[in-house]
Order: sequence, then C-alpha cells, then structure tokens
Amino acid sequence: MATKRPLMWSNILFILGYHVALLALLPIYFIYFKTSWLLFGISFALLYSSGLAITAGYHRLFSHQTYKTNRWVEAVMVFFGTLATQGSVIRWANDHRLHHAHIDQEEDPYTVARGFWHAHIFWMFRQQTPIDKKVVSDLLRNKLLVFQDKYYEVLMVITNTLMTLLIGWITGDYVGAFVISWLLRMFVLHHFTWFINSLAHYWGHQNYSAEHSAVDNYILCLLTFGEGYHNYHHTFAYDYRNGIRWYHFDPTKWLIWTLNKLGLARGLRRVEKSRISKQMISEHKRALLEKLQGAVTTKRTELEAMASQLAESLTNKLHSMNELVAKYKTLVKDRSSIPETVKLLKKEIQQLRKSLKREWSYWRRFSKQVMRLKAA
Ligand SMILES: [Zn+2]
Ligand SMILES: [Zn+2]
Repeated sequence: MATKRPLMWSNILFILGYHVALLALLPIYFIYFKTSWLLFGISFALLYSSGLAITAGYHRLFSHQTYKTNRWVEAVMVFFGTLATQGSVIRWANDHRLHHAHIDQEEDPYTVARGFWHAHIFWMFRQQTPIDKKVVSDLLRNKLLVFQDKYYEVLMVITNTLMTLLIGWITGDYVGAFVISWLLRMFVLHHFTWFINSLAHYWGHQNYSAEHSAVDNYILCLLTFGEGYHNYHHTFAYDYRNGIRWYHFDPTKWLIWTLNKLGLARGLRRVEKSRISKQMISEHKRALLEKLQGAVTTKRTELEAMASQLAESLTNKLHSMNELVAKYKTLVKDRSSIPETVKLLKKEIQQLRKSLKREWSYWRRFSKQVMRLKAA
C-alpha cells in the first residue's frame, strides 16, 4: 500500500470553491438577470475552443506528438489551453505520459485502480510528484511552454479575466460572462476532461485490447471532443485520430485534418488499417476463447478450434492483401510495367477483398453466437 501524499490545499480550495460559487450564483443569475442567446453562443464557442486546445493541443500535439505544427498554432493552443484551467502543458503532459506508461499501476497519477473518484477528481487533491525532466525533456526545450509553466497561475487568471471582461463588453452582461462563460464553462470542461480519466476507464467496450482498463464509449465521445475512443487511444497512442472511421465523432481529429489541409499541420501519424484489423482480430479471439472457457456447450473444442482457425485465416488474408497492395502501388509507379500484369494484379486484389469481406462478416456472426452462449 502506497503512502498517501500530503493534501494540496490550493487545489482543493480552488476546485471546491468554484463549485460552491457556481451552485450559489447560477440560480441567482437566472432569477434576477436577463440572459441572452448571444452570451450562450459565445460561451459555447469558448467551451469548444478551450476544449479542443486541450485535446488537439495539450493531448495529441504536446503529450503524444501525433503531428507537427508551427509556432503560431502552438501559441493559439497554449492560449486557449490556459483558458481551460487544467495546469500548464508541461505539467499536464508529464502526468499524462506517466498515465500511459504506467496505466492502472501506482505510478499512474490518476490510476483507476484506486477507484472511480480518485481517477475523476481526488488525485488532484494531493501533492503531485515533481515534474520528471526525463519524461518531458522535449517540451522543456520549447521556450513558450517553459514560459507558460513558469507563470501559469498568473497567466490563467489574466487570460480568463480579460476574456470574461471582453465577453461582458460584447454582450453587455458582465455578470453572465462571469457565471456562464467562466464558472459554468470551467465546470463543464473540467468534468468532461475528468470523465476521460474516470468513465473512459470504466464504462464501455474493449475493442482493441484488454491489457489495460481503457474502454471505447461513444456517448463520451460526444462530451469529450472525440476522446471517448479511449481503448483505441491507449492501444495506439501515436495515432492523431481516436475515432478511426470517417463517421466516428472525433472533432479533434477533424480539426487536425483541417489544419493539415490548410498547411498548418504536417506529419500526421496514423496506424495502418491492416495493423488495426489484426489487433482487433487478436483481441476478439482472446475474448471468444475466454468466453468459451466458461460457457455451457458440448462443442467447446470445435468452437475453440474454429475461433483460432478463422482468426488465423483472416490475419493471413490481411497480410496477403497488404503485400498485394504494396506490389500494385510499385507497379503503377513504374512506367515500364506491363499493363496486363497490372490489370491481373488489380483483379487479384478485388477478389481477395471480396473474400475478406465474406470471411469478416462470417467472423462477426460467429463471434455473436459465441458471446450469446450461457455461462456455466
Ligand atoms: Zn486513459
Ligand atoms: Zn493519451
């Protein structure tokens, strides 16, 4: 059992203090003051920009380096990230890198192994380990981040105060700007971010790996700017996407993609499709075999053999597909290639794709049947 660190009263008083202030001021504001859609619109835009600065900036850019950008974009991310009131980039990335490196262990600052509420909020109520220079050595070479870390508290108060005054001036509602654009926005954004440490390690599906507690949860994606595909993220943390399908709700991914198209982001890292599929098959197979171990069935041995055989066949076909596609790309680039050979290869790829599709849907039906089996 690890010894408990001393309480961090500045964090406790700040977090509890603003929760109490919000609870008291919100009803007073709605009863005694006239609010406007303009105020809510601006507050929502600020919620989204400060939230995306955390997910696209603090998280996917600075903590994981899933893409590169220029100093100007970095500065914008740091500015809106400071408004989010979640500490400096260096502190945030230090904790987050430890979270990934030691997930579910004592060294993970917000390990869910110590309970839901520890992961959600209580971990911030105790003194944290000092920033490990080896963990964030790359970020310590960035002057802007070092400056933000050194003057974080002052910068956080100044940026939020100026933003609140600006919104108050635009809307003519200074009280609303304070209660809605600052307090309520901070409350919502804090809990949305904290959900990733708590709920995204509790409630959902483990589609890619059961070796860590992270889960994919589509509802959380809506609240966390796409960070709810957390099982995928912990399995492939260097991918700039968390939601890998085009229809997955991941506004952070869409923002990074747009920055790339505008020439403001480069080197977007993504995991190969076939590698993701192989990982998924391997995880499904593990889950099926585990289910069969404790299921009521007279065909356990046959079903186990089938699960292994189907998984192997799918993996082999994916491997062949990869090889064929690579070969095809080389042939297309090579001007001396014989058109007939290219045509034949294309046909082979199409046939293999069809066969893969068939086998994949059979695998899914088979998986469903096994997962429906009753436990002994
Ligand atoms: Zn996590
Ligand atoms: Zn991460």
